[in-house]
Amino acid sequence: MHRNILIILILSLNIDSNTLMEPTSLSKDLYQEIILDGNYIDTIDRPDKFLDFDYGTRVATPEQITSALLAWSKQTDRLKFVEYARTHENRPLHAVFISTPENLNNLDEIQEKVTKLSDARTTNDRTAKTIIDELPAIAWMAYSIHGNETSGADAALGIIYHLIASKDKDVEDMLGEMIVIIDPLMNPDGRARFAKNLEQYRGTAPNYDDQSLIHTGDWPYGRTNHYYFDLNRDWVYLTQPETQGRVKLINKWRPQILVDAHEMGPQDTFMTGPAREPINKNVDYDLVKWGNVFAQDQGNEFDRRNWRFYTGEWHEDLYPGYSFYVQFRGTLGILYEQSRMAEDGVRRPEGTIQSYEESVHHQFISTLVNLKTLQKISKDMYKDYWDGRKYNVSNNSKYSDRSYVILPTKNKGRLNVLANKLIAQDIELYQNDKPINVANVIKQNGLVENEYIIPAGSMIIPNKQPEAPTIAAILEFDAEIDDAVLIEEKQKRIKNGSSIMYDTTAFNFTMMFGLPAVTVPQNLSKNLTKWKPSEEVLDVKKDSVIWAVDGMDDRSVAFAARLLEQDIQVRIIDKESSLSGQTLSRGSVAVLPMDNPKASDLYVTVKSVASDLNLSVASIDSGFGPEELPDWGGRHFRLLKKPQIAILSHSGFSSYDVGVTWWSLDHHLGIRHSQLNSSFTAYGDLRRYNTIIIPSGSPDMNDYAKKMLIDWVKQGGTLISNNSSTRSIISSDDIGSVKNLNTTFNETESYNIDLMREIYSLDEIVDITDANINKINLDITYPWESSDISYDTKQLEMRDKWQSLLMPSGSIVAARTDSDHWLTFGSEDIVPVLYGNNPILMTDGNSEAVLRIGELIPNEDIQTNRTINWSQIPAGYDMNVRMSGLVWPEASQRIANSAYLTREKIGKGQIIMFAGEPNFRAAARGTNRLFLNAVIYGPGLGTDMLVTP
Ligand SMILES: [Zn+2]
Repeated sequence: MHRNILIILILSLNIDSNTLMEPTSLSKDLYQEIILDGNYIDTIDRPDKFLDFDYGTRVATPEQITSALLAWSKQTDRLKFVEYARTHENRPLHAVFISTPENLNNLDEIQEKVTKLSDARTTNDRTAKTIIDELPAIAWMAYSIHGNETSGADAALGIIYHLIASKDKDVEDMLGEMIVIIDPLMNPDGRARFAKNLEQYRGTAPNYDDQSLIHTGDWPYGRTNHYYFDLNRDWVYLTQPETQGRVKLINKWRPQILVDAHEMGPQDTFMTGPAREPINKNVDYDLVKWGNVFAQDQGNEFDRRNWRFYTGEWHEDLYPGYSFYVQFRGTLGILYEQSRMAEDGVRRPEGTIQSYEESVHHQFISTLVNLKTLQKISKDMYKDYWDGRKYNVSNNSKYSDRSYVILPTKNKGRLNVLANKLIAQDIELYQNDKPINVANVIKQNGLVENEYIIPAGSMIIPNKQPEAPTIAAILEFDAEIDDAVLIEEKQKRIKNGSSIMYDTTAFNFTMMFGLPAVTVPQNLSKNLTKWKPSEEVLDVKKDSVIWAVDGMDDRSVAFAARLLEQDIQVRIIDKESSLSGQTLSRGSVAVLPMDNPKASDLYVTVKSVASDLNLSVASIDSGFGPEELPDWGGRHFRLLKKPQIAILSHSGFSSYDVGVTWWSLDHHLGIRHSQLNSSFTAYGDLRRYNTIIIPSGSPDMNDYAKKMLIDWVKQGGTLISNNSSTRSIISSDDIGSVKNLNTTFNETESYNIDLMREIYSLDEIVDITDANINKINLDITYPWESSDISYDTKQLEMRDKWQSLLMPSGSIVAARTDSDHWLTFGSEDIVPVLYGNNPILMTDGNSEAVLRIGELIPNEDIQTNRTINWSQIPAGYDMNVRMSGLVWPEASQRIANSAYLTREKIGKGQIIMFAGEPNFRAAARGTNRLFLNAVIYGPGLGTDMLVTP
C-alpha cells in the first residue's frame, strides 16, 4: 500500500517537472481520421504496442518495425518473413510475405510456376494458360528507400497489421487470391540517421516550418545509406548490399507490380501514375496501359476523400537504375511521391497545416487501393506478361538480331565484376573459343566496321533471351529518345538552361566500366560455350627473385596498397615488360625479396594478399628483360611509397561524392584512411598524410586553411580534387597553372600551340626528308597555319555563352589518354568518361593533360587543320566527342580538347584534378581506376617526398 502511494507520487512529480520537456506532436490533434479502421483480431498486437507514441503520428524506428515483425510472425499464420540482406550498419532488411496459410505453405511451388511462365523457350501456350489460371496475384510493396522519406514505412507497418489482423471479408478474399510481399523499409541506416535528427532537433512546441532542422536534418542527411549512396539509383549497378539482396529476391519472385513509396518536397501534394516521356523504349508499353488503370482507381479514391494529387509532370523514366528496372522484366512499377511532413506537420501556402498522420494515411490508402486493383486485373496482366515473355525470345522482336560483345581483356577483375552484375539480372553470358567473322559491327565510338573479326575469348551476349529488354537497356550504346522530347529539351536549355531530364542520359555498362565492346547486328548463337571466369594462378614460388601481378587488372592496385600498408616495399614496372617468359603490362606491381630483407616469409604475405583478391601472381626467376624491355635494376622498376590518406568531408561537400570516395577506398582497396572534417585543414596536423582527397563540393574553407593545404602540397603532398572542388582550385590565382576555359580566351593561340606539341609529338608519320639539308628552308608551314579560321576573344566569349547553356547532364564522352603516364595504368587508349556541367580544364606547358576530351579518328581526306573554338583538329583527323547520352554538338565543341584529368607538380608535391566525379555511383569503373592510381601511386611516382612521414 505504502509502496503504491510512493510510486504514484513519483509519477506525478515526473509529469509536473517534465511537462515543458515533453516532445510535443500535435499530429493526432490535427488529423481526425482513423487509419486503422477495420475489425481486427484481438490476439494480434496493434502497432502501438511496439511504439512509444500513437501509430502514424510519429516516425517508427527500424528497431521498432523489426520487433513488430518478430512478434506478429508468432501471432498469425498469415505472415512469413525473410531477412534478405544486412545493411553496412548491420541492420536487417526484411521481405514480409502475407497471404492465406495455404498459399504461404506453397510458396516454393508458386515461385516455380512464376519462373516457368517467364521462359517462353521451354514453356508453351497451353502450360502457360494453366499456370495463369492457378497463380495467385503477386505484389511487391516497398517503402522509404530514401531514409528521410519516412511516411511510407509507417504506412507499411499499418498495412501489415491491417492485412494479418483484419476480420473483414474483402481482406480475407484478397489474401486468398494474392501474395502480398512487403518490404517495409528499404534503407534502415538512412532512416535511423534521420530518426536521430528528429530526436535531436525536437523542441517543446511543434514546428511546422519546413525549413527548420527538424524537417531537413543534418549533412549527410537521411536520404542515403551508410556510404551516402542513393539506393534508388543502384538497382542495376548493384553496388550496395541492400540492393544486391533485394534485387535477388525480386528477380526470383517476378511480382506483377512493384510499388516504390517515396516522399517529395513538403509544399507539394501527392504524385503517382505512369511516367511521362522520356520513357526508356525497352519498357513494354502494355505496362503503361495497366499503369493508367491503377492510377485511375487510386485517383478516384483520393477524389472521394478530398485529397489532392497529380500524375506525370516531372516523373520520367529513361534511367534504368531506378526501382523501375523491374519494368524491363515485365513488372509494372508504381511510384508514390507524398509531400514530406516530418513529424509535426507542415504549414502550407493555403495557411492550413498538414499532419504527418495524414501523409501516412495517403500511403496506406494508396497501397490498399492498388492491391484491390491488382486483385481485379491480375489474370489479364499475366496474359500480357506471357505475351511479353514470348516476344523477348521470338524471331520477330526488335531484339532478335543483335548481340553485344565485350572484347577480351587482361583486366579480369573488372570483367568479372561486370559479369556478376549481368548474371544477377538473369542474363545469359557466352564465350567463343574461336574467332568469328561478322559484318557491320558498331563500335563504342559510333563507327561502323563492315568486316570485323570477333577475337576468341570475347564475352558474347545475344540480345534474344528471356531478359532481352534488360540486356538492351544496359548494353545498347544509346537509349532512344523521341524527337519531341529532344525539341522540348533544347528549347528549355536555350531559354534558361533548365532540363527535362531527371537523371543521367547515359548508362551503358561497358562504357561505364571502360571495357571495349561492339554491337553485332545479328543473333550470335553458334559455336558458343557458357561464359566462365578465367582461372587465377594463386601459387607463389618461394625462391623467386620477383613476384608480379599484371597492371591491367584493377586488383593490382589493391595488391600494392595492401602490401604497402604492411610496410612491404613495392615497385611499379612503368613500361610493358617480359621477364622469365611472362609478359607484364605497363603498371604491373612487383615485389622483390631484395627490397625487403627484413620481411620474413615475404612469399607467404604475397600469397595471402593475392588470394584475398583472387589475383594471379607471376613468380619470376630472372630480372633480365630481353632487348629494350625493362630489367629489374633499371629506371622502369620504380619504388612506391606507402600512402597515408585523408578524405576531406562534411558540410559543403557533395555527400554522394564523399560517400563514393570513402566506399572506393574501403571496397576497392580495403585499406586504412581517415575522413577529416575539412575545417581541420586550418589547425590539424597535415603531416600525418601524404595524400589528401577533396571530393566535389563547395566547402567553407578560409584563406588560411587553403594556405595550409598548399604549403602541405609544396612539402610533398599529393592533393586530388573532383568536379566542383577542382573548379574552386582553378579559380584561385595562386594555386597551380590549370585554368577554367572562360578565363583563357585572350591566350588562345598559346594554348593551341601547347596542344599541337602534344598531338604532333605522338604522330607516327614524321617528315624527315629535310633533316640533312644545309640551306635554310623558307617554305615551312607550321601545324596551326593551315587553318584559315581563328576566333578573336569577343567571338569566343559569345560562343561560350551560348554553348554553356547546352552542357550535358550525365552523358558519356570520349577521352584520349596519355598512354605513357602512370595515372593511366590499366586504361585503354580511349576512356569513356561521364560528363556533366563540369569545370573545363585548360593546361599549358606547366601542367599535364593526362586525359583530354575527344578521340582523334584518322581521315586521310582532310588536308588542313580545322579550328573548333580555341583549338584545332590536326590535318588527317576527325574528332569524336559524344559516345552515349545527350551531348549537344555545341557542347561537344566547347569541351573538345579540354582536359578531363590534369596533374601538376607544385614544389615537391603535386595536384591531380578530375573535371568530373571519377567514382560516380561506384559504377564508373573506368575512371575509378585513374582515381585509384592517383591515390596509391601518387606519393611514389609523382612527388619528391623521399621519406614517408
Ligand atoms: Zn525518394
